[in-house]
Amino acid sequence: KKLILFFLGTIVMSATIPAQTAAEISAAKALVKKMTLEEKAGQMTQITLALIAKGGWGNEDGALDPAALKKIVTEHHIGSILNTTAHALPVDTWVKLITQIQDEAQNTRLKIPVIYGLDAIHGQTYTLDATLFPHNIAIAATRDPEYARQAAKVTANELRASGVRWNFAPVLDIGRQPLWSRFAETYGEDVHMVTQFGVAAIKGYEEDGLKNTTAVASCMKHYLGYAASRTGKDRTPIYLPEIELRELHLPQFRAAVKAGSASIMINSSEINGIPVHADKYLLTDVLRKELGFQGVVVTDWEDIIRLHTIHHVAPTPLDAVVMSINAGVDMSMVPSDLSFYSLLIEAVNKKLIPISRVDDAVLRILLMKYKLGLFDNPYPEKEAIQNFGKPAYQVLALEAAREAITLLKNDQVLPLSKEAKVLVAGPSAQSLAALNGAWSYTWQGNDDRWYPKDSKTILQAIKEKIGADKVVTTTGPGFTNALNDDAESLKKAAAGVDAIVLCIGENAYAESPGNIRDLALPDNQKLLVETAILTGKPVILVLTEGRPLFITDYAPSVKGIVMTYWSGKKTAEALADILWGDHNPSGRLPFSYPKSMGEIVMYDRKGTEEKREILNENVSWDGYDPLFPFGHGLSYTGFAYKNLKVSNKTLQAGQKITITVDITNTGNRDGKHAVELYSRDLYASITPSMRRLRAFTKIFLKAGETKTVSFTITPADLAFVNATLKTVTEPGDFELYIGDQKTTITYQ
Ligand code: BGC
Repeated sequence: KKLILFFLGTIVMSATIPAQTAAEISAAKALVKKMTLEEKAGQMTQITLALIAKGGWGNEDGALDPAALKKIVTEHHIGSILNTTAHALPVDTWVKLITQIQDEAQNTRLKIPVIYGLDAIHGQTYTLDATLFPHNIAIAATRDPEYARQAAKVTANELRASGVRWNFAPVLDIGRQPLWSRFAETYGEDVHMVTQFGVAAIKGYEEDGLKNTTAVASCMKHYLGYAASRTGKDRTPIYLPEIELRELHLPQFRAAVKAGSASIMINSSEINGIPVHADKYLLTDVLRKELGFQGVVVTDWEDIIRLHTIHHVAPTPLDAVVMSINAGVDMSMVPSDLSFYSLLIEAVNKKLIPISRVDDAVLRILLMKYKLGLFDNPYPEKEAIQNFGKPAYQVLALEAAREAITLLKNDQVLPLSKEAKVLVAGPSAQSLAALNGAWSYTWQGNDDRWYPKDSKTILQAIKEKIGADKVVTTTGPGFTNALNDDAESLKKAAAGVDAIVLCIGENAYAESPGNIRDLALPDNQKLLVETAILTGKPVILVLTEGRPLFITDYAPSVKGIVMTYWSGKKTAEALADILWGDHNPSGRLPFSYPKSMGEIVMYDRKGTEEKREILNENVSWDGYDPLFPFGHGLSYTGFAYKNLKVSNKTLQAGQKITITVDITNTGNRDGKHAVELYSRDLYASITPSMRRLRAFTKIFLKAGETKTVSFTITPADLAFVNATLKTVTEPGDFELYIGDQKTTITYQ
C-alpha cells in the first residue's frame, strides 16, 4: 500500500510567481514624474486593432495603416492594444504586426512600449495552428489542476511566440447558472474547485517570471459576480446579497491575488443596481484594501461609456469616466475610439479626477510593462518564436481531453468492440466547432475554415480507430434546422449496424450570441434521438455541450451517454479512445446535470432542498435530484472505499487533523480516480450546506491495487461566511465524507 499525501486547500507546486523588483518600482516612479497628462491618459487607454488595421473594422488580417498607427501610438500615446476581430492570424504575421507597433512606440518621446492583450482562454485562439485545450468546464472535469497549469503554460508560450504578453485569462467566474452563455468558460459550480483550478492556471501563465519567454501576464476575470445573471443572459442584472458574493464569488479572486496575478478585468454587469465599473466599494475597498491587489484593473469592452449609454447612472460620458476612474479603474478597454482619452484629460483638467489617482493607475500599468520585460525588449523574442507549435503540446491536449471526457451512463455497452459496425450520426459528428466551442480561431469559434488542417471530427477519428469500412454515417443535419429527412436517413443507415454513436449538443458560441431561452434540445435533435432509440439498436449519446441541455426523456432508453464538453483540438481522438476502451475514462462532472428548468439546484444545497416531502401520491419532492449529480463520472473499472480514519476526533484552533481512506481498484483494468472530501456542518448560525467540497485529488490505481489517500484539515477548511460577512468556523460537529465513507469530528 502506498501513501499519498495531499494537503487540503493548497496546490502542491514548485514555483511561486516572482514579485516586482525594487529597481523596477523606482524606474516606473521616475517615468511617471516625466509624463505629461496626455501621455498618462494614453497609457490608460486600450484600443482595438481595428483602429490601426488597413481597411479598418473587419479587415484585421495583420496589415497596418501607418498613418493610423502614428495617430494612435505617437500622437495619442496609446499604451495598449487588443484583439483580432476577424480570425486567427499566422504566427509570422503576428510577429510582424507587433514589431511594427513597437517600432512606432520607440519613436515616441518616452519610448514606452505598447502592451498587447488577447483572449487566449483555452489556448492561443488568435494564432493559426495554435493548440487548443479543453475549455475550463472540461479542465475541471479532469479533477487535476495540473492540466490547468500545463495548458496555461503552453498557451503562454504560443502567445509569447506571437509577440503577445498579456492574456485575458483565467475566467474565475463560478458556473451556477447553466443558461449562461459563458458557462463553459467556468470551472463549474463549486468555489473550491474554481479556486484551485484558477490559481493553477495563473501559475501556468506567470510562474516562470514574466520576463521569461515562456510566460505572460494573466488577467483574472470578471470581477465580481459576473456569472450570476438573473436570467442567464450575458451582461444582464445580478442581484446578490453580499453574503453570497463573499461565499461563492470572492474567494477565488482572493486566492488569485495572493498567487500574484498581474491584472484583473471587471464585470460588465451590475450588482444590486450598481454597475461594477462604478463601484468604489468593490474596486477599491474590497479589491485594493481588503485583498491587497497591486496590479492593473482593466475594464471590459466599452464598459465605461456604457455607464452612460446602457446603465444610465452617468448623465454624461464625462461623468462615466469620472465615476469609473475614481472608483478604481486603471485602464479603459475603450476600444473603438479615443473618447476616453479626451474625456480623461478633460476630467483631470476640471479637477473631477485627482491627478494622484491617474498617477496611481499609470504607475501600475508601467510596473506591469517593466515586469514583463517590455522596456528591455518590446519585440517578439526569437526563443519565444521557437516555442510555437511543439509536438508535446498536442500530447498534452490529447491527455487533457481524455481525462476530461466524462462517461455518464454505461449500460454494458462500452467499450465497443472494434469488430462492431457503427453508425456515426448527429450534428456534431462532422463539426470541429462543436468540439472546440467559443474562442477557437475566431471569437465565436463556429467557423471550421480556420481550424488546423490536422484537426479531426468525431467521424474521422472513429474511422481511424476502427477502419472506415466499419463506419457508416448520414449527412447533416445542422444543430437547429428541422429536417425530417435526417431522421429518415438515420433510420435507413442504422439497418446494418451494431450500434449508433449519436453526436448531439451545441455548436460553438461566445458571449451574447450564445444567449438562449431554455436548456431544451432543439426539436430536430430530439427527433434524431427518438428515431435512433426506435431503431432498437444500442444508442450511445455523445454530448458536445458548453452547458447541459436536457436529455431527461432519453437517458433511460439510450445505452450509453458520454459528455465531451468542448474539449479542444483532440476531443475526437480522445472520445474514440474512450468509446473503444483504449483509454479508461476518469472525468467527473464539475456541475450538477439538471433534469428540468425547475430543478436547477447545486450540490451544495441547503437542508430545505433535501428529500423530505411528498408532492402527491406518486411524486416525492427532492430538491437535489439532478439527472447526474456533481462529481458523477464512470470508469471501466470499479473503486471501493474502506477504513476511513481521522487522526483526532476533535479539532482546535491552530491545529489540524489528518483523514485517511483506503481505495481499491476492484476491477480488472488500471484506472485513474478522483477522490473528493466533503464536509457538512451539522448546526450553524446560518443554515449550513448539506455538502461542501473541501478537497480533492486524483490517483492512479492498477487493477486490484489499494492506496491510502490522506487529506489534512485545518479549521479554515470548514469555514463559511456568516451573517456579519465574516468567514468563520463555528464550534460544533462536522460530518466528513469520502466516497461512501463517513465520520464525524468536533471543532472546539
Ligand atoms: C469579454 C471579455 C474579453 C473582452 C476582450 C469582452 O466582450 O467579456 O471576457 O476579455 O471582450 O475581448
